Amino acid sequence: MALEMFAGLTRGAVAALLVHGTEEQKRTYIPNMLSGQWTGTMNLTEPHCGTDLGLMRSKAVRQADGSYSITGTKIFISGGEHDMTENIVHLVLARVEGAPAGIKGVSLFVVPKRLVNADGSLGAKNAVSCGSLEHKMGIHGNPTCVLNYEGATGWLVGRENKGMEAMFVMMNEARLGVGMQATAQAEIAYQNAANYAKERLQGRAIGAAAYPDKPADPIIVHPDVRRTLQGIRAFNEGARALVMFTALRNDVAHRSDDAALKEANDDYMGLITPVIKGVLSDRGFANAVSAQQMFGGHGYIVETGAEQFVRDARITMLYEGANGIQALDLVGRKLQRNNGRAIQALLAEIDRFIEDNSGRDGIATAVVALRDAVSDLKKATGTLMTFAMKNPNDAIAGSTDYMHLLGLLAIGYMWAMMLVTAQEKIAAGDTSDYLAAKLSTGTFFLERILPETALLLRRISAGGKSIIDVPAEAF
Ligand SMILES: Cc1cc2nc3c(=O)[nH]c(=O)nc-3n(C[C@H](O)[C@H](O)[C@H](O)COP(=O)(O)OP(=O)(O)OC[C@H]3O[C@@H](n4cnc5c(N)ncnc54)[C@H](O)[C@@H]3O)c2cc1C
Repeated sequence: MALEMFAGLTRGAVAALLVHGTEEQKRTYIPNMLSGQWTGTMNLTEPHCGTDLGLMRSKAVRQADGSYSITGTKIFISGGEHDMTENIVHLVLARVEGAPAGIKGVSLFVVPKRLVNADGSLGAKNAVSCGSLEHKMGIHGNPTCVLNYEGATGWLVGRENKGMEAMFVMMNEARLGVGMQATAQAEIAYQNAANYAKERLQGRAIGAAAYPDKPADPIIVHPDVRRTLQGIRAFNEGARALVMFTALRNDVAHRSDDAALKEANDDYMGLITPVIKGVLSDRGFANAVSAQQMFGGHGYIVETGAEQFVRDARITMLYEGANGIQALDLVGRKLQRNNGRAIQALLAEIDRFIEDNSGRDGIATAVVALRDAVSDLKKATGTLMTFAMKNPNDAIAGSTDYMHLLGLLAIGYMWAMMLVTAQEKIAAGDTSDYLAAKLSTGTFFLERILPETALLLRRISAGGKSIIDVPAEAF
């Protein structure tokens, strides 16, 4: 995961340059970034400014030749300094002299570690240096740097004071990537735990011994071990399907010539991005912990490897906007955008699926579970709208629960579609174990995980009184 971050951030920086860079910037940087000769970084965070980027102090001064001189300190910059590649392309947010206060006065700059000559060869070292490396809980294979910009030469990407717009291209891409990172961590944690559970001999199966010739049965025979493994797997496979489904919609949003289709898929991307980041990372970390649990005390010991998955997965809940902020983005912005057009379209799509499949053999339970979850989401959405009009804090107090409700419903929808496909293939004569496992894993999700939406609805409906009315001194 730590190594993947180099490629992930480089890809994100390329995306921002493709959308907002000049032709010259694209020519100068993108080929070497895509070939892997140079890496890219994103520079937002400063010591006093993380979530609230409007507090940013790094400044940019226009130079006679059209470039800018960048000065300031950035912290926590992933892949900020290393010698694996011959150049590093930093995308840096800073404030142009005289810019408006707050987030509306932030601009984006491309600042290479080494300047690039007109013929594409590398020139002098730029005035950016690594002040120190952070000592972290995990992702030790990725240098998290304090970067000092001391009159470094940079070039504007996009327009002055529109830096967030340009940086959001990179951030949205990175948020989707972080959800995928968490899912991948939970998956490798699961695979290790499942293998261990088949080998570790402790206790006997209830009733007859499964392996009477051995001193004990492998722990995979115990229902609670299976429950845990099935829970991780059911979430992971559903989450992976959601990522693929979203990737397809992203392609349509970017490439379609049909304006209506493009708009519908853009709406979906806006809505689902905070959900993929927030829900997949909250659950990905929790699932890495559940996988560690399968090792018993050995999971706490470094040699087993399970604890590294937990440490690495933890960052996904924090960077690219802490998960509380993802929930805020969903409820405070995305849900309301265009009078709720995106959520209404998704709900209509799932309703259509339910209608089309309600008479189908073999998936009646799935359809009922999905219908219940849709009903919970509709009620939760209505409740939030009412709260928002009377007292917005009541709505915001439910934002994390709402994000999880939507995430579970979206994954439930994926599982229901996968069950339909699996049933069709089985009906056509396919007897593979793969399809049988799809049926049992999907049924587990729909019976045991999706019903959590009822609890989330109940919490959302409670509003924020027991949260907001408590004075700060009482904590
Ligand atoms: C290992 C690592 C790598 C990183 N890589 C990069 C990188 O490459 N580039 C980069 O620019 N940054 C990077 N970051 C920074 C990361 O994105 C920030 O740490 C993160 O956005 C949170 O900012 P903060 O740490 O200042 O927390 P704060 O903003 O101080 O927030 C603290 C807590 O308060 C909550 N909070 C804050 N404001 C609100 C609000 N309005 N409503 C509700 N809750 C709120 C947050 O959710 C959080 O839980 C990295 C961080 C780490 C640890």
